[in-house]
Amino acid sequence: MTNEVVVSYLLNSGFSVKIGKTLLIFDYYLDPENIVPNLIAESDTVYMFSSHRHFDHFNPLIRQFADTVNQYFLSFDIEGEAGAKKLPLEKTVYLNTYDNYASETLQVKTYSSTDEGVSFLVEVDGWHIFHAGDFNWWHWKGETEENIKFARNRFAKQLKKMSGLVADIAFFPVDSRLEEFCDLGAKEFCKKTDVNYLIAMHRRGPVWTPTADFFQDNKTIPTWCPIKSGEQRKITK
Ligand SMILES: [Zn+2]
Repeated sequence: MTNEVVVSYLLNSGFSVKIGKTLLIFDYYLDPENIVPNLIAESDTVYMFSSHRHFDHFNPLIRQFADTVNQYFLSFDIEGEAGAKKLPLEKTVYLNTYDNYASETLQVKTYSSTDEGVSFLVEVDGWHIFHAGDFNWWHWKGETEENIKFARNRFAKQLKKMSGLVADIAFFPVDSRLEEFCDLGAKEFCKKTDVNYLIAMHRRGPVWTPTADFFQDNKTIPTWCPIKSGEQRKITK
């Protein structure tokens, strides 16, 4: 088993995770530093994931990698998109919420999002990687009380189904547009799951760092909030 993986930040919720010779790419939107071609060149197996159809999570330009991508895993809501039809059908797997996919080299499980599409739990070579997509407690300050309540209930309902989830690395939105409520969702998520490393995404603002009370019950784990495309971290276990 590989005991060290390399995570690279692309943009927004776009990341790659290199596990041995296997490369996972999540929510490719843009790659300003053009690091993906090199990452692919260094890998034997490439899997791409898109959590939902929004332009900042699914970019039809991922078809440019079709020759080297082994499989595209796309959320069900992407199937109707014109850009998706240009991807090679034989390499594309559409996943519903609470879906499962397994091959000899990887396992994929999906959860429901609070926005559109799904979130992913992927297992490769003993590594469990969770990518939330736009699953979050979207608490917008300016919203009506009713909408705020709706967002909270929706989040709580989905989170319940993730209770006890185990992941070596979790990517979770910490959107600065939510202001002081930006990490409400991430905080609850860490409380209800068993995650070993938290990576903040969908940030659109200054670096986020957890407050003293962010982690509860002595469950403090390392965090990383990348801002600049191309930033990398080695994560070991
Ligand atoms: Zn988004």
